[in-house]
Amino acid sequence: MYSLIITYTDNFHSHLTLVRYQTCYNKIMVKRYLFYLFRWQLSTPILAIVLLWLSNWHVTAATVVANLIGGLIFFWVDKYIFKVEYKIPLWEIKNNVKCTDCGAVTRGYRLVKTKKYDRLGDKKPEFRCETCSENKLSNLRKKGVRA
Ligand SMILES: [Zn+2]
Repeated sequence: MYSLIITYTDNFHSHLTLVRYQTCYNKIMVKRYLFYLFRWQLSTPILAIVLLWLSNWHVTAATVVANLIGGLIFFWVDKYIFKVEYKIPLWEIKNNVKCTDCGAVTRGYRLVKTKKYDRLGDKKPEFRCETCSENKLSNLRKKGVRA
């Protein structure tokens, strides 16, 4: 699984993780695009049926009705497709911080945001050393947080 890591001190690794994040983001967008093209085809039968149903109408008026019906349905489908909720975890790494659990002063990690977990606006962010961070992460996973 890819992670987005933000760090205050290490620009090189920050850049690398941003590139990995971008690659992951691109894969998601390609999948969404293909699904969207498939979804677009689903409006074809609606158009065909309404044009047959309203065959005595002017073709433009019948198309307007067909697109209105399609819009009523596909607004909700498209809303789902373009939901910007990512499953990619966002991490923050900070050097020389005190681990919340064991007190060691070291490089600290904290999970900032992932599905069902949001600590973006945390006023007192808790950083943990690598070991304690792994323990915390396994506890979060038991609670259903995916990271
Ligand atoms: Zn620790």
